[in-house]
Amino acid sequence: MLELLPWHQKQWDQLLKARNHSRLHHALLLDGPEGTGPGQFADCLAYRMLCESQIGVDVACGECRSCVLLSAGNHPDLLRVGPEEESRQIKVDAARDLIDYFQLSSHCGGLKVAIVSPAEGMNWNAANTLLKVLEEPPGDALILLVSQQPARLPTTIRSRCQRISFPPVYDLTALDWLSKRLKEGHELGDLLMMTRGEPLRVVAMLENDTLTLRYEILRDLKKKSDPIRLAEKWQSLDIQEVFSCLVMYFSRMSRLKSCRVSSTGDEKGIAAELQELAKGLDLSQILSCYDLASRNYSLATGTFNLSKQGLLEDFIIYWQNLTVGTRGQVM
Ligand SMILES: [Zn+2]
Repeated sequence: MLELLPWHQKQWDQLLKARNHSRLHHALLLDGPEGTGPGQFADCLAYRMLCESQIGVDVACGECRSCVLLSAGNHPDLLRVGPEEESRQIKVDAARDLIDYFQLSSHCGGLKVAIVSPAEGMNWNAANTLLKVLEEPPGDALILLVSQQPARLPTTIRSRCQRISFPPVYDLTALDWLSKRLKEGHELGDLLMMTRGEPLRVVAMLENDTLTLRYEILRDLKKKSDPIRLAEKWQSLDIQEVFSCLVMYFSRMSRLKSCRVSSTGDEKGIAAELQELAKGLDLSQILSCYDLASRNYSLATGTFNLSKQGLLEDFIIYWQNLTVGTRGQVM
């Protein structure tokens, strides 16, 4: 059975209440960083809406005929629309399938649900095709658009959806949830900070050992390395992780710089290292690194087919020039 993540409770209550008063919007834009779980929320909501047990505020029962079909991945009233394999784009054919799907009536006599994820992956034609359904939705339609970058969706799409946001989470709900899943010995606050408030990424990071990768990147930033070699090394890692780690480090450094936070003890280990790294740089220089890392992150993960090596070299050379310029040498 799907778990409703505890930091989703408010959004869940809001939508279930609307559903119980027959006021649920036919199209929802569920947006937020992947690791806050908007995709998992979409699944939970779809399951709940198709579950045969009485609608209340609980999650789907996990036992009825619908739930069994959903778990097996072949419920006829749930359509998942995503990019074709090896492509980041959702093409017009997939959007046409969605139109055809909504033309048939519900198999089970209830709602027909479609989950489009990642919604920003729709190309122009696909978005235009989806717009037709959003403009004249069938009465039994529930369309869930899951997006990490809602700004990349056409305004015409966004304006026809009710937006439900899943912002980064740093509070006790996330810390409690993580503490039940992870072995002792991890500084959960530090890990949440490292993933910029994305608890699901903390779990993934420990499972696939990208924590080590993050420490490695920190060490690399301190060294004077050949930019081309270093870019090659980083490119052989998960490029998304590398850029998101850089963005996180410079965001953290800018906060340390502006708040003059002191660091003590092992728990502040990363903060202390970042503070050391930021020595000799002023806030505007750190922010310029943050901007460049963010920009190159978007370019590396966007639909443009830009050279990852080039984007990494661009950042490394900028960083090294800055640190040489301010300190005479890189640490
Ligand atoms: Zn059920």
